[in-house]
Amino acid sequence: MNDCPFCKKSGLNLLAETKSAIVFFSNPRLVKGHLLVIPKRHVEKLWELSKEETVDIMSLIKNYQQNISENIAAGCDLRQNYRPFLEQNNLKVDHLHFHLIPRGMNDAIYAKTDDEQEGLFHKIEKNEVEEMTNRLRGV
Ligand SMILES: [Zn+2]
Repeated sequence: MNDCPFCKKSGLNLLAETKSAIVFFSNPRLVKGHLLVIPKRHVEKLWELSKEETVDIMSLIKNYQQNISENIAAGCDLRQNYRPFLEQNNLKVDHLHFHLIPRGMNDAIYAKTDDEQEGLFHKIEKNEVEEMTNRLRGV
């Protein structure tokens, strides 16, 4: 994957690394302290990670979510998007990555998005639970 900016690693502001994963500052970022955690190997799907990569990534996430919550902001979102239906661009990179986003009660993200998401939540009915359970089990 020669066109992958995360594989090239040039210009990444590296914060820490393990044998198979790294954590660096997101650029562009949403808020100050916005980090990305990635496997060193080019992987696009979460289920393609090896056991070692999974452990390395989860330990970086755990450590840096705690670090952010104790030193940067009151809270910290963990986010990972899988949207293969979108083309890679300067905001959408195919290399698997986890966002660690410092959050506070009155931050810019909350003001712009969280209030609008409230209308997206729906009460789940019993037939929907059955339908989705069957689909997830491949029935
Ligand atoms: Zn890559």
